[in-house]
Amino acid sequence: MAATAFLHPFTRPSADDFLTIVRGAGATVWDSEGRDYVDGMASLWYCNVGHGRDEIVDAVAGQMRQLAAYHTFERFTNEPTERLCERIAAIAPFEDARVFLTSSGSEAVETAVKLARLTAKLAGDGDRTVIISRRPSYHGVAYAGTTLTGLPLNQAGFGPLLPDILQVPRGDLGAAQAAFEANPGRVAAVIAEPVVGAGGVYPPEPGELQRLRQLCDEHGALLVFDEVITGFGRLGTWWGADRYGVQPDLVTFAKAVTSGYQPLGGVLVSPRVLAPFAGHPDAVLRTGHTYSGHPAASAAALANLDIVEREELLARATAVGARLGDGLAAQVDGDRIVEVRGDGAVRAIGLGDHVDAPTVRDLMLTAGVIARPIGASTLAFSPPLVITDEQVDRILECVAVAVDEVAGDRRPQPVQP
Ligand code: PLP
Repeated sequence: MAATAFLHPFTRPSADDFLTIVRGAGATVWDSEGRDYVDGMASLWYCNVGHGRDEIVDAVAGQMRQLAAYHTFERFTNEPTERLCERIAAIAPFEDARVFLTSSGSEAVETAVKLARLTAKLAGDGDRTVIISRRPSYHGVAYAGTTLTGLPLNQAGFGPLLPDILQVPRGDLGAAQAAFEANPGRVAAVIAEPVVGAGGVYPPEPGELQRLRQLCDEHGALLVFDEVITGFGRLGTWWGADRYGVQPDLVTFAKAVTSGYQPLGGVLVSPRVLAPFAGHPDAVLRTGHTYSGHPAASAAALANLDIVEREELLARATAVGARLGDGLAAQVDGDRIVEVRGDGAVRAIGLGDHVDAPTVRDLMLTAGVIARPIGASTLAFSPPLVITDEQVDRILECVAVAVDEVAGDRRPQPVQP
């Protein structure tokens, strides 16, 4: 008999050691035993405004009392969704953005891939079907996203995957150029997370995103930024595109658009992508989801964005990131903690071979701090942007103690003068 009927995502089906989270406020969550935790991961990289924000709950409840849901296919629309798309378009990293809505980041990635191929087809360039992604990377779990994701374990056993998807190593611009040259006139798009998140927390190499933009321009391809983690403030700017000064043609988002109070994702679409529709006045954008433009999700996003602006959380992301990044950097000893990576309020430590990240995570959990292991040697942090300085310091202390305990007698000895 399984321990639970709930078949958990990204978990062994036989697992039975779950923490039941029952409540949250700010950067703190409580479990069913009454223990509190500093949420060093904003749940799964998304709860930027923190837990327990009544203002968002009230906005969603108010919308649901008036109209819980109505679809937006063909002739139908609703006010909160129209207002939300106006508002997102106004902060988009390019002019005249249109906003397509989904319920998740995975659906957003699928849509971006479909749009990249469709726009080429409508422009009479139907051989342009190749999409280039990087390794490591994470682009969700639908089939395009699974194929694009540069983490072999996430692909194992799910084949055959989508055709015409190529991967190049992150930061290897020679490999990216070679992929274009090996497929003349066939590359529809390059997709990249401005900061690789679930693939290990890697900021771009200097000039990397700029060069990808240049390659796309030289070869007639689109640049897609997957901003499911970086969008809506995590890097101290609305978008990674702003942070690194590179303009993409499509942007996927999810997570912090609602801080998780409702499931919502989407794609920012630049005029260039929709231009070929002008030559096909009867062409229909034949893709979308039952819940694209769900009014309760849009109401949550609007209330969430009000908080982000009023509480100046973009600036707070920079401050939180600096305190966290500096505090982690001070613990790098080249043996147990080998490096710190990240940017803005998303950071990770790279651990030495003898320090197992899931074990460090478990010890930290026992001490009341939530971090996220990625593989055996990376521990990630992406806290709510409302986290206090004292809570950041508690994360830092907890890392030091847990790494000490796991590393045991491999602690570096003081050098004798
Ligand atoms: N793309 C990126 C960069 C992500 O980080 C994620 C999720 O973490 C996704 C896509 C998939 O989003 P979702 O889990 O909402 O489907």
